[in-house]
Amino acid sequence: MHTIDHTHDPHRTSWVPGADGHRDFPVQNLPFGIFSMDGGERRPAVAIGDKLLDLAAITSLLPVDVRGPTLNPLLALPPERRTDLRHKLFELLSNESHRPALAPYLHDQSAVTMHLPARIGDYTDFYVGIHHANNIGRQFRPDNPLLPNYKYVPIGYHGRASSIRPSGVPVVRPKGQRKPPDADTPVVGASVRLDYELEMGVWIGRGNDLGETIPIGEADAHIAGFCLLNDWSARDFQAWEYQPLGPFLAKNFHSTISPWVVTIEAMAPFRIAQPPRPEGDPQPLPYLWDKADQAEGALAIDLEAYLLTARMREAGEAPHRLSHGPASNMYWTVAQIVTHHASNGCNLNPGDLIGTGTISAATDDGFGSLTELSRGGTQPVKLPNGEERGFLADGDEVILSAIAHANGYVPIGFGECRAMVLPAR
Ligand code: CA
Repeated sequence: MHTIDHTHDPHRTSWVPGADGHRDFPVQNLPFGIFSMDGGERRPAVAIGDKLLDLAAITSLLPVDVRGPTLNPLLALPPERRTDLRHKLFELLSNESHRPALAPYLHDQSAVTMHLPARIGDYTDFYVGIHHANNIGRQFRPDNPLLPNYKYVPIGYHGRASSIRPSGVPVVRPKGQRKPPDADTPVVGASVRLDYELEMGVWIGRGNDLGETIPIGEADAHIAGFCLLNDWSARDFQAWEYQPLGPFLAKNFHSTISPWVVTIEAMAPFRIAQPPRPEGDPQPLPYLWDKADQAEGALAIDLEAYLLTARMREAGEAPHRLSHGPASNMYWTVAQIVTHHASNGCNLNPGDLIGTGTISAATDDGFGSLTELSRGGTQPVKLPNGEERGFLADGDEVILSAIAHANGYVPIGFGECRAMVLPAR
């Protein structure tokens, strides 16, 4: 299923200066995105080192026409066609003979604007980070953190696609209803418990027709790639509004994604076995169970979350790492998520985005949200400059990053998923 070929060979190099050994985008990665320059049209690109290659400008060299303002057509390709494109781009960017023809179409990433990679028709957020589900469950329902359905159903809810923005677009502190613990009635105003959530995003590829399903053994063929996702959350609104129908205004005011689609083909060397379920947990129902998926359905990715406060920024200090941990802390695989989503005949479309849910590790240093790190704000996080955070302050910038790694392969990264909090309007 996950084919490792010459494009994953750690000994291959690129003629693009700075690409070899690049933290995120060596030639073994080749993620796709949408950029514009000097206010011009939106065009597809592939990232290589600190640069990107304008794919619309070299379309005559490519086996697939990917021109257009979104990657939806590219995401919709059968995996074999996307692999053809990957092979061609690998050849173009690794073989020095192509340098004269391509060099004019390489641009510094710092000189362009990155946009959402796709027109996102629908966005669904899951809740498969088992340690996050336990931690949050404990805060909201101390006696009953994990509801009995959790180990049978990949829990999710339909999110809001219209408010998803690429990395760099600031998030405005939302206003809404919250009920202070000692009050009888709610108040309206700016959130006082604004939080981030460290998640992976899954880009849907071909998808399924309405009424059809996606068998678990075929799920990976419907996944085009991955990104980072910050599911900004207003915990005070969430606590007041979430029952009985689930998240609403606490979650839909803004979500931030990293702008590059790291393809499922690039991720082939970084597939690992799904961690075994704890003793006594139920076996997944048959439609969610696939031996091959259990053997290589998890992702060998290290996730990190950083905070840069206004004071740190003014002092020229580096962002402070709040947490780090592996993406394998997911109770369900991405294939299980996709299969479950389509199991009732719900149609998934190319460019749909699925969030995994917050991925926390079992220990404090890997908690994927501030409310977990600060125990619901009761034990504020101490920053190196003496500042403290129970929740996010205006001017705070949250930066997510991720590296996929495996012995014998060149690590690949996801680029940045960052945004600053602006005051409520
Ligand atoms: Ca979430």
